[in-house]
Amino acid sequence: MTPPPIPIAKPWMDEREVEAARRPISGGWVTQGPEVAAFEAEFAQAVGAPHACAVSNCTTALHLALLAAGVRPGDEVITVSHSFVATASSIRYCGALPVFVDIERATFNMDPRAIVPAVSPRTRAILAVHQMGMPCDILGILDVAARHSLPVIEDAACAVGSEILRNGAWERIGKPHGDIACFSFHPRKLLTTGDGGMLTTANSAYDARFRAQRQHGMSVPDTVRHSSDRVIFEEYPEIGYNYRMTDIQAAVGREQLKKLPEIVARRRYLAGRYRRILAGIEGLELPAEPAWARTNWQSFCVRLPEACRQAAVMQTLLDQGIATRRGIMNAHRERAYPAGTWRPGGPLAESEAAQDRCLILPLYQDMSDADQDRVAAALRSALAAIQSQ
Ligand SMILES: *Cc1c(COP(=O)(O)O)cnc(C)c1O
Repeated sequence: MTPPPIPIAKPWMDEREVEAARRPISGGWVTQGPEVAAFEAEFAQAVGAPHACAVSNCTTALHLALLAAGVRPGDEVITVSHSFVATASSIRYCGALPVFVDIERATFNMDPRAIVPAVSPRTRAILAVHQMGMPCDILGILDVAARHSLPVIEDAACAVGSEILRNGAWERIGKPHGDIACFSFHPRKLLTTGDGGMLTTANSAYDARFRAQRQHGMSVPDTVRHSSDRVIFEEYPEIGYNYRMTDIQAAVGREQLKKLPEIVARRRYLAGRYRRILAGIEGLELPAEPAWARTNWQSFCVRLPEACRQAAVMQTLLDQGIATRRGIMNAHRERAYPAGTWRPGGPLAESEAAQDRCLILPLYQDMSDADQDRVAAALRSALAAIQSQ
């Protein structure tokens, strides 16, 4: 008998989310209404941000963030290729050119030292990613950015609940530390609304722009028109988008947000346990957490020994019902990114090696100790078999 399959990830949803979705559905206000406003206020509070604006997903959040930072056609934005393709694509939505810099081997995040050689007269912003929930060296990046007067946008798609140590205190990602931070509520992230996104900022002018642009560039939000006792005609001073979050999504998001401390604690427990049961596998490198970071472990990514074929290891595990993923993709290797649509800001050797040599292991809320032991045993024997060939 084959044991039940172990998925790579699984959202944690139950009757609480079902009940929450009932509110807007039976109340009748289903988009851009009171649930969205409440979710924004609660999210802002949770990460310590002055403003939070809900949108349809993190890709649209990144697009609005880059526009607010002034990114225009012909500009360059320094970012990493080693990220989900949405990071680079949001730059191209603005007609701008992504300039890819390499990552640090230990954290899979942008190397602040790689930024300076990539700066050109066309550089308009830096888009830094907190990859797989692990905080990037945002303070180091901000240092470099300040010297070049560049705004910094944080792709925090995976990083809700992650923290960095600043001036002796732990601060949540999204405070924000850069100018704007963007979050995702896709089911592969810690909190999900099916699809969904959030922008946080300390800049009230940016926040006002996000609110107009997510709603076709309309001058008056629905909440204001709805509650006014005078007739109001809206205006459209500039082209906007339909990047709205619905109230059904927001109601679900509010329940998910209440679970965040429990989710982070559970993932940190499971990651710590992986660390113990995977210790001692020859040549296997476990992910590192800098002393100044507390990751939410959105993904637990290990580096395979040199001799291993990544696909062979993955297939061996899949044959035992265990889903894994290869290391994070590199946008510059995809056909959507031919020469001329991006510029190398330096070597990308660590980015490519991280994609080719790494493996993301299953991790989810109700993963049992036995599930984890099965993954560890399968990986251990797969590596032993391949190395002895
Ligand atoms: C998931 C993800 C995105 C895209 O988020 P969506 O909400 O699916 O648009 C962007 N950047 C990174 C790093 C991601 O992991």
